[in-house]
Amino acid sequence: MPDSTSTAEERVRELADGSSIPTLGLGVWQVPSGPECEHAVRWALELGYRHIDTAQAYGNEESVGLGLRESGVPREEIFVTTKFFPKHKDPAAALEASLRRLGLDYVDLYIIHWPAGGPTWAWPGMERAHDAGHARSIGVSNFGVDDLEQLLPTATVPPVVDQVQFSPYEYRQALLDSCRQNGIALEAYSPLGTGRHLGSEAVARIAQRHERTPAQVLLRWGIEHGIPVIPKSTHRERIAENAQLFDFRLSDEDIAELDALDRTGGTDRALEHKWWS
Ligand code: NDP
Repeated sequence: MPDSTSTAEERVRELADGSSIPTLGLGVWQVPSGPECEHAVRWALELGYRHIDTAQAYGNEESVGLGLRESGVPREEIFVTTKFFPKHKDPAAALEASLRRLGLDYVDLYIIHWPAGGPTWAWPGMERAHDAGHARSIGVSNFGVDDLEQLLPTATVPPVVDQVQFSPYEYRQALLDSCRQNGIALEAYSPLGTGRHLGSEAVARIAQRHERTPAQVLLRWGIEHGIPVIPKSTHRERIAENAQLFDFRLSDEDIAELDALDRTGGTDRALEHKWWS
């Protein structure tokens, strides 16, 4: 049922450092550098996205930068995230190289891609990148509750985001609770299960009730939990479909049904193989 009153405040979420993150972003993992990536980024911006998620490890920062510029959307209207590849030694120097590839003066969010070598060593370099004005906000990715508990007491500038695998099937409530207690916004990567959850019968039933698509239901579930979602697609029509999230609402019953799909037992665990350790 359309509910236009639900929308404006759902489109952005305030972070603990006072910045705002758009709750819908385009992810570009596994999008090869070149026209495919440039087009996806430009289409997303043309279709109203204001948030792009890339990483040093994705090898496509140049193409993201080209797509940003080709869109003609002013820089200050776009929220750009990149991620520190933690096999490198110096996050601040690595961000300067990212900025050159992206053709930008700053990113909105810079996060440690995974806690390689432990959760604390890279943080002083992240803080230097922040102090230099090269990253407006800093955060982490693939950090569990233990990792956050180790990092937080050492931080001068606390992390404001933890980007993790999160969807109804990976409803990691213990991690969500820890993030909430520590002023960290949990951000959902692989919100469609890298495509796997699109075949879910439970999701399809709910989608039918609302005359929506399974992708829209999965993404809307994140939005209604106050969680930014960053679906990936290189198809213009899917990029458009994934943005139609702010003109309908799931019922309490739908949300409960989706919450019950959780396979993490409400813990902080990801369901994927711990590829980052
Ligand atoms: P998603 O969960 O976003 O799913 C993407 C897959 O679903 C693709 O195969 C895509 O195909 C397909 N798809 C997208 N929209 C639709 C649609 N409306 N209908 C049918 N199929 C659709 O996958 P990702 O794992 O890529 O996660 C999203 C983003 O999260 C990444 O791109 C990356 O930015 C981030 N991420 C971060 C990680 C980290 O370690 N921090 C790890 C993993 C992801 P197609 O492109 O062909 O349309």
